[in-house]
Amino acid sequence: MFKKLISFDEAKQIIDELQLESVGSEVVPLGSASGRVLSSDVESPVDVPPFDRATVDGFTVRAADTYGAEEHDPVVLMLKGAVEIGEQPRCSVGKDETWRIATGAPIPDGADAVVMVENTTEKKSEVQVYRAVVKGENVMKAGSDIKKEQVVFGDRTLLNSRRVGVLAALGFAMIPVLKHPRIGLISTGAEIVKPGERLPPGKIYDINAYTLASAITESGGEAVDFGIVRDDDIEALKKVLQEALTATDVVVTSGGVSVGPKDVVPKILDSLGKPGVIIHGVAVKPGKPLAVAVVQGKPVFALPGNPTSSLLIFHLLVRPVLLWLAGRKSGKLRVTNAKLSRRVFSAKGRRTYVTVSLSKGKDGEWAALPVASGQSGAITTMAMAEGYVELPENAPFTEEGQLMRVVLFEDAERVD
Ligand code: AMP
Ligand code: MG
Repeated sequence: MFKKLISFDEAKQIIDELQLESVGSEVVPLGSASGRVLSSDVESPVDVPPFDRATVDGFTVRAADTYGAEEHDPVVLMLKGAVEIGEQPRCSVGKDETWRIATGAPIPDGADAVVMVENTTEKKSEVQVYRAVVKGENVMKAGSDIKKEQVVFGDRTLLNSRRVGVLAALGFAMIPVLKHPRIGLISTGAEIVKPGERLPPGKIYDINAYTLASAITESGGEAVDFGIVRDDDIEALKKVLQEALTATDVVVTSGGVSVGPKDVVPKILDSLGKPGVIIHGVAVKPGKPLAVAVVQGKPVFALPGNPTSSLLIFHLLVRPVLLWLAGRKSGKLRVTNAKLSRRVFSAKGRRTYVTVSLSKGKDGEWAALPVASGQSGAITTMAMAEGYVELPENAPFTEEGQLMRVVLFEDAERVD
C-alpha cells in the first residue's frame, strides 16, 4: 500500500516548480536548423535587399522624365544600354535617358523608378513610354524587407522552412540553437527482452523503450537508450541509473515503481543523492505508482511498467518538462470536442484518464469511443486511440452523450 497518494494537480505543480537547468546551445548548419529552437536573438547583419532593386522587367528611368506620358502621347527616352543582373551598375542615368533592367537588378545612379516593359515600345535606340511612373515605382528599396541590425527573430523561436529562408537571406550558414535535451531511458524487469532477440518462455518484449523513445522525439528530446535491467539486480540498476544521470539531462525509467518486493526503483533513487524521491504515488488512473525524483540536480521520472500507463503519464507529466527544456513555447496540446459514446467510470478518488478513438457520427459531430475497457495492460488500446479524456476525481462516472474535451495525441489523424 502507498502511505499517501498526492493529487494529480499537486504532482503537476511540484513538477512545474522544479528548478531545471537549461540544456545549453550548439551551432548547427542552416540546412539542418528547421525544427530547432533559436538559443538567442538573431540580428540582421545586412540590409535585405542589400541594394535598391527592380521588381519588374522594363526600363529604369528618372520618374520625372515620364510625366505626362499617355497611351496616345508617349514620352520618348534615349536607350543607353542594359543594367546587368548580379553586377554593380557602372552607368548613371541622365535626363531623358533610360537603361533596360531585369527584375532583381540594382537600380543605377540617377534613376528612381522602373517602367514596366508592357508599357513601352523599344525602337532602335529609343524607348517610347506610354505610362508615367512615380518616384520609387517598381523599386524595392534597400533594407525595406529587413533593416541591418534589426532583430529578426527572438530567442526561443522555433525554426521552420519559412524562417530558415529568412536566415538564408541574411547570409547565415550556421545558427545557434538549443541542444536537444537528452533523455536516458531504462526499462526494468527480469521478464523484459529486447525486440529482435529470442523470446524465452515467460518473457515479454520491451515495449516501453520504444513507445517512450518515440514520444521523446515528438517532444523535441533525444532519447538515449540504456537498455533493460533486471529488477532483482540492485547493483546493476544503481550502476545504470548512475550512468544515465551522468550522461543525460533527464532520466525516464519504466517498471518497478509499485510497492511489491521487486519494486526497487524508488529506493535506489533515494540512495543516489538528495533530495531523491519527491513524489511517489499519485491519485491518478492509470499510473498511480509513478515516482519522481531529483538526483544530482536532474529529474528522474520512474514510470509504471504497464505500457499504456507509462505512455499516458509521459504525455501528461514528462512531455511538458521536455518541451520546456527544448524551448518549445508552442507545445500547446491539440484538443477537440467530442461526445462520449458510452458511460465511463472514474477510479474512486483518482483523476482518471481514458483513451478514446474518434469517429464522426451521423449528425456530423465527433464521437469519442473509450478504448481502454479496463485492460490497461493492452498496448493495442493505446495504438487505437487518437487522444484521451479527463474525468474528475470526485464523480463516479460520466454519462454517455456528455460533450468532452479530447486531448489529441501528437499524430492524431481524422480530426479537422
Ligand atoms: P511493473 O510496473 O514493473 O509492475 O510492471 C507492470 C506490468 O508492465 C507488468 O506486466 C510488466 O511485465 C509490464 N512491463 C514492465 N515493463 C515493460 C516494458 N518495458 N515493456 C512491456 N511491458 C512491460
Ligand atoms: Mg516489474
